[in-house]
Amino acid sequence: MGERQVEFRNVSFRYQEDMPWVLKNVSFTIGPNEWVAIIGHNGSGKSTIAKLMNGLLFPQEGEIFVDGMKVSQESVWDIRKEVGMVFQNPDNQFVGTTVRDDVAFGMENHGMPRDLMVERIKESLKAVRMEDFERYEPHRLSGGQKQRIAIASVLAVSPKFIILDEATAMLDPKGRKEIMQTVREVQQERDLSLITITHDLQEVTQASRVLVMNSGEVWMEGSPREVFSSKDHLTEIGLDTPFVSKMADHLKAEGVSLAREPLNHQELL
Ligand code: ADP
Repeated sequence: MGERQVEFRNVSFRYQEDMPWVLKNVSFTIGPNEWVAIIGHNGSGKSTIAKLMNGLLFPQEGEIFVDGMKVSQESVWDIRKEVGMVFQNPDNQFVGTTVRDDVAFGMENHGMPRDLMVERIKESLKAVRMEDFERYEPHRLSGGQKQRIAIASVLAVSPKFIILDEATAMLDPKGRKEIMQTVREVQQERDLSLITITHDLQEVTQASRVLVMNSGEVWMEGSPREVFSSKDHLTEIGLDTPFVSKMADHLKAEGVSLAREPLNHQELL
């Protein structure tokens, strides 16, 4: 339960008592400055992990620690300050009538003083290269610009962890690339840990570590090279062959040589 870490310790979760477990005995750690990509087929539990990480949900079994704090009803506001989340559809994330109001909203929830808020609005809009849009109405912006504002709103609260849950899925490839470039810059500048839930090959390749979910369990964990060397294990769990093959080809094209022998997924856990 170290500082600047997220730790899931034997976490099990179900949405209701009479429903099946959605996460089963999930354990992993995300360290400082890491970029962890979470992949897995639909319904494997990725978004549920994200929601547990910032206290939108609580596990029935096991424990979650964020920056040394246990996630619980009592700690939820402190946790949300540490863990910022950006979702797929930016339109569902806007609350203010102007970009400025929107970025201010999260800070207001955390009771930040007015002068600090003004400073943070400017800083975080600059970080995502949207400093000229303070007075704009969010609904007039492009998809990519909206996601930049959603990221700025998260940055304004100064979190240590940022989760992007399919946050680039609605953008075209160029928009995706630009957003990820900005996020990477911000991550390095501010020393953040990044967690991305994604199907985008480029993003998965660039992550420092990949966590593969299957039916609510951590199926495999390792560097992109390790995970995609075990092509057979990935296709076995229903991650579609084109995705996995393309991923392996992509790594090769970037000059990353795959492990000669496929790794046993158990050894990676
Ligand atoms: P993923 O992000 O990998 O697609 P989710 O975490 O969204 O997976 O979902 C995991 C499982 O939990 C799925 O079977 C899904 O149907 C179920 N689930 C997700 N949200 C809810 C909810 N609010 N109520 C009940 N079941 C849910």
